[in-house]
Amino acid sequence: MSSRTDSRANIAVDGPAGAGKSTAAKLLAERLGFDYIDTGAMYRALTWKAVQEKVDVHNEQELERLLQEMKLVMKPAGGEIDIFADDRRITEEVRSSEVTNQVSYTAAHQKIRSGMVEKQKRMASGGGCVMDGRDIGTAVLPDASFKFFLTAEVEERARRRHLEQLDKGIESDLETLKEEIASRDKLDSERETAPLRKASDAVEIDTTSMSLEEVVEKMYKIITKRVNDYE
Ligand code: C5P
Repeated sequence: MSSRTDSRANIAVDGPAGAGKSTAAKLLAERLGFDYIDTGAMYRALTWKAVQEKVDVHNEQELERLLQEMKLVMKPAGGEIDIFADDRRITEEVRSSEVTNQVSYTAAHQKIRSGMVEKQKRMASGGGCVMDGRDIGTAVLPDASFKFFLTAEVEERARRRHLEQLDKGIESDLETLKEEIASRDKLDSERETAPLRKASDAVEIDTTSMSLEEVVEKMYKIITKRVNDYE
């Protein structure tokens, strides 16, 4: 991936919660020398702000006001992405269960989505991005050069989250996690605006019995093969 065309390519990575999208997308971006954009973090940051300001996540108008007021910055930091809202670093706070369990309500509002999608399109306008989310291949970057849809069985997704939480020293209950993940999937797939869907031209990868390295390798091979075939 070193030719002129490649550096302008954008790569969309979608899929349900906990399918390994963000870690795989981040590693893929590193390998390609691309920027990584975590769009879930943007919906999480707005939800965090709503919690701070005691705004009900079902109130679209109030959320829209917060979105307009909020200064949201995402900065690469040592292989991770730091998230700032109004200059306050909220990287860990956006992953709290309070935010996680409400974010899908925030993300269901049409006006919130159009505001976010506009920002995301702008962020990717120069190309050279790996962007992960739920609607990247279908709504944000329908012309992306490569689209992936990562899935995994819900038990496996919950198990991965559980281990991740324990690893970070966070209390975790596997059954609760499974229910939360299934409920978020349902909300994300059944909402009216830009529901979670595989784009018709996306490559689906079931990661249930794959390691992270295998997933990244598979994506990388698909990209480089197509680029080489094309050249
Ligand atoms: O990817 P992550 O799990 O951090 O996303 C959090 C939530 O943000 C998702 O469950 C979904 O409700 C919403 N989201 C979305 N569209 C995106 C990215 C995330 O609706 N492109």
